[in-house]
Amino acid sequence: RKTVIVPEKLYKVIIIGDPTVGKTSYVQRYVQNSFKKDYKGTVGVDFALKVLQWSDHQTLKLQLWDIAGQERFTQMTRVYYKDAHGCVIMFDLTNKNSFINTLKWKNDVDEKCQLSNGNPIPCMLLANKCDLPHRQVEQMEIETFYKEHNFIGWTEVSAKEGLMVEDSMKFMVDMMMKQE
Ligand code: GDP
Ligand code: MG
Repeated sequence: RKTVIVPEKLYKVIIIGDPTVGKTSYVQRYVQNSFKKDYKGTVGVDFALKVLQWSDHQTLKLQLWDIAGQERFTQMTRVYYKDAHGCVIMFDLTNKNSFINTLKWKNDVDEKCQLSNGNPIPCMLLANKCDLPHRQVEQMEIETFYKEHNFIGWTEVSAKEGLMVEDSMKFMVDMMMKQE
């Protein structure tokens, strides 16, 4: 009998975007499958760990780094981005400014952070709060934007309703695994 030992992989994923777009709620939904209505701004950085049974003999650990929005574009982000394998950039579909600012976040990441092989880290664009009416961003606009700025993909999500939360992270993991 042979025992196959596959080393456990650890991936660091950073979740960034303007304050109140739903980063903390997304992480909470993904890791604990819960949603809290009251808003408590994140202070500094929150970490969450999720262990995934990826296949029969492969476990993955995902370390999710949930940054506070007020840290943006300071030297702090460099420390925060260090050694990340993947990045989620989130905006709120009902807040146009948060969409416009995703480009600043994308540029900030690309400037300060690369994979060990020199490639830019895979960034996925997430359009949160798709459960709400009164959208300020059109799908077509997002579609053009994500291609133009080299995101690996985009999707609408709702941390509140748990829509596309699992699927989006699964996509992220697939892309990170392909980078090796
Ligand atoms: P963060 O600052 O980006 O971490 O945002 P939070 O996760 O703290 O969420 C900010 C506010 O948006 C809170 O009041 C959340 O309840 C609300 N929120 C987050 N995600 C959703 C969502 O998918 N739908 C709706 N309707 N509200 C959301
Ligand atoms: Mg937060």
